[in-house]
Amino acid sequence: MAQERVVVIGAGIGGLAAALRLAHAGFDTTVLERASRPGGKMRAVPVGDRAVEAGPTLFTMRWVFEELFADCGAQLAERVSLAPAHLLARHAWSRDERLDLFADIEASAEAIATFAGSREADGYRRFCARSAEVYRTLEGPFIREGRTGPAGLAQRVGLSGLGDLWRIQPFTTLWSALGAYFRDPRLLQLFGRYATYCGASPFTAPATLMLVAHVEQAGVWTVAGGLSGLARAVADLAAERGAMLRYGAEVERILTGGGRVIGVRLTDGTVVAADRVVCNADCAALGAGLLGTEASAAGEHLAPGERSLSAVTICAEAVATGFPLAHHTVFFSRDYRSEFDALLRARRLPDDPTVYICAQDRDAAGAAPQGSERLLMLVNAPADGREKPLTPSETETCERNLIRRVQACGLALDFTSSAVMTTPRDFDALFPGTGGALYGRAAQGWATTFKRAGARTALPGLYLAGGSIHPGPGVPMAAQSGRLAAAAILDDRDSTARSRVVATRGGTSMR
Ligand SMILES: Cc1cc2nc3c(=O)[nH]c(=O)nc-3n(C[C@H](O)[C@H](O)[C@H](O)COP(=O)(O)OP(=O)(O)OC[C@H]3O[C@@H](n4cnc5c(N)ncnc54)[C@H](O)[C@@H]3O)c2cc1C
Repeated sequence: MAQERVVVIGAGIGGLAAALRLAHAGFDTTVLERASRPGGKMRAVPVGDRAVEAGPTLFTMRWVFEELFADCGAQLAERVSLAPAHLLARHAWSRDERLDLFADIEASAEAIATFAGSREADGYRRFCARSAEVYRTLEGPFIREGRTGPAGLAQRVGLSGLGDLWRIQPFTTLWSALGAYFRDPRLLQLFGRYATYCGASPFTAPATLMLVAHVEQAGVWTVAGGLSGLARAVADLAAERGAMLRYGAEVERILTGGGRVIGVRLTDGTVVAADRVVCNADCAALGAGLLGTEASAAGEHLAPGERSLSAVTICAEAVATGFPLAHHTVFFSRDYRSEFDALLRARRLPDDPTVYICAQDRDAAGAAPQGSERLLMLVNAPADGREKPLTPSETETCERNLIRRVQACGLALDFTSSAVMTTPRDFDALFPGTGGALYGRAAQGWATTFKRAGARTALPGLYLAGGSIHPGPGVPMAAQSGRLAAAAILDDRDSTARSRVVATRGGTSMR
């Protein structure tokens, strides 16, 4: 039987995971990527003469990659060097208010007791138990299978599981659910920040996002060479398994014929024929018709208010003094509610932003390097990169406010080369159709989860993979979504093959 041809549009982690699995399964697999390298958001930018990670830095749920590699006859640990982090993150509100969270729940509870009293520490222990319960309830249907429909979810958890589903408070916001565990506003802020892991506000995101706490306790790893290196490792393995990866290849149209997908056309006019296409471009690009009108119904058309958050990031080399940066440090704003009101109601950058810094040369224990170090600094921003790009004066103010926030906690930064800033407009240019949104549709209440597309589409032969498809956030879920798209293709191939056999047998018996 001739090899089936699959084209994957985009070498983000979802596209790479799908391509790897399909190439390993014997498909003639071609990845077409408009950028000059694999990884999509998992990218590094040159600063001075070093490469600074400019995308994801927090790596969790390593089992997704272990399974992906194992499915393809390889070992993650042999290809990527990962070190477990004992210290998950440092959090700061002022010079005197600092709190470290650890992978060990009791170590964190003790730190919380010292920081905010034993009542809050007890609340934390109860919170951890609940977040583990939420994780357990959702692991199968939501995380592993990426179920996006209420019926599918209910069917998967079964009648006995419906009680569990109800108990995890899907209809409550994260912020109000946290009130049952914490009184200290700083702790509400710290755990409410988990909503931003999928680009949402804690004041509207569902309480189910508290599962992030459990995911972090299950393990945070630092990746040698950064997460861009992890993406490269997946791309290399896919190439070893026979996938062809073409960079600088931008798809302008998904081609259809006879009611199904027949290939794609690149912007240079080249046509690549395919039996099946996996689209790893953001779902909003499809919805906006950027890949042609025939495929647009498979995507989503999102108004700016429906998009997840964007960010302003600054990649820099600097000498950091006055504050003991950890690998991951968060400097919290004074008033979280007005920060999110500015971002999502007024749709502007807040005057006092929460700042995340990844000090990527510090090991998992936070040991400081000699001299200048590589930093990624990030503040949340509205995803209005297309409609309302930031003006030069707004980006200057943003930089000033960021520095003021970290200085309030004692951190002084002496920049040793020119920094590289990425704004929502830049993210929109890198990831067309998004407006700069980094996680697809915003999680505003439980119902938005059910609006996500899923791996299969109504257009035969077209499948979707990536962060805007899977209902869970971040790198592992985008990769899982690629695995799900590949599994759907394998199923569909097998069921087509089975029906061919049945048809042939039927013909034989009639004769
Ligand atoms: C600053 C930042 C920080 C983050 N922090 C974390 C973190 O700490 N932990 C975490 O888990 N996640 C984090 N994330 C989120 C995570 O990076 C993403 O969820 C994940 O990488 C998305 O993968 P994806 O499969 O959706 O593909 P994407 O990364 O969105 O890539 C899609 C690819 O498709 C290509 N493409 C688009 N259109 C076309 C076309 N027409 N033709 C050809 N190619 C096309 C693009 O060039 C791109 O390479 C962060 C993201 C950002 C930006």
